Amino acid sequence: MPNLSAFRPIFLFMPFVLAACANPVETRAASSYEFAELAAPRAAGIRLTVVITARTSAPEAILFEGGNWLTERPMAHSAVLVCHRDGLVMFDTGLGRQIDSQFEDMPLLLKPLLSYEVTSPVADQVDLDVFCPGRPLEIALSHMHWDHASAIEDFPDTPVFVPDSELASARQSGNGHGYLASQFDDPDIDWRGLDFTGSAYRNYPSSLDRFGDGSVVFVPMDGHSAGSMGLFVNMPDGQSWFFTGDTSWSLDGFTRPAHKNAIIRVIVDRDVAGVEQELQRVHALLEREPGLVVIPAHDFNAYPPEAIYPRVIEAVELRMPDEG
Ligand SMILES: [Zn+2]
Repeated sequence: MPNLSAFRPIFLFMPFVLAACANPVETRAASSYEFAELAAPRAAGIRLTVVITARTSAPEAILFEGGNWLTERPMAHSAVLVCHRDGLVMFDTGLGRQIDSQFEDMPLLLKPLLSYEVTSPVADQVDLDVFCPGRPLEIALSHMHWDHASAIEDFPDTPVFVPDSELASARQSGNGHGYLASQFDDPDIDWRGLDFTGSAYRNYPSSLDRFGDGSVVFVPMDGHSAGSMGLFVNMPDGQSWFFTGDTSWSLDGFTRPAHKNAIIRVIVDRDVAGVEQELQRVHALLEREPGLVVIPAHDFNAYPPEAIYPRVIEAVELRMPDEG
């Protein structure tokens, strides 16, 4: 996710150029999808928080076509923590303790575009044993770009769930296409392949129900990278959250729907047509479920304030055996 503010004077001239390459996303009606029947989640409780590890910002017009060039939008690099009775899931890691040395390998031309201001890595900010006592940590990644995979090595001996296609693509890319090899080159990383072997879910053709109770469900999201995925968290009270990685950098990208800026998406989206399908799918899902809380990874404005760490969402009190 770039910080392009320094380049704003240049971008001010670009609307005219970009108007010629605009690629509006057609909406697709919810009725054109098959929606799988949703069973009520059976988890005893879920504790959820979004940990901001770094901040940045960008002109709105970078985030989605049709956005305003003069409106600066706050962005964040974050990790999502989901405490479940059977485990603690960290979805994306945000920026980790080694980000400054990792970032040295970023291609020179991209460095000024990708500046960031670190708040605090998860490992220094959250006592995971207080947030989710006694539960084993596992990491799952929406994808392995530098701003999502940076803190893997802050958590040694932790299983890391990512589709094989994403891991292969990251390894092949080295320090290109948004990846930084030093973030995932430790031979001791405990990689766990992740296959969407589960049934159709909402309007997704396949899924993976992590704990088998309908509360923590991964779905494939094509396009942004080789093996991107999203995460649904379904609370026992019926509220659902959908963390959509970088398919869109803004909630507007889904609600309109709209692509990222024309030049940016050519750089950051591996398959623009694939991204378009996912924008349409989430748009239709929101039409069907207006109460669904959709959170694109970097869109600070889409983070519900009550879910930003140290605040925690807990629909039903999740009393762990060791909490008395
Ligand atoms: Zn990102």
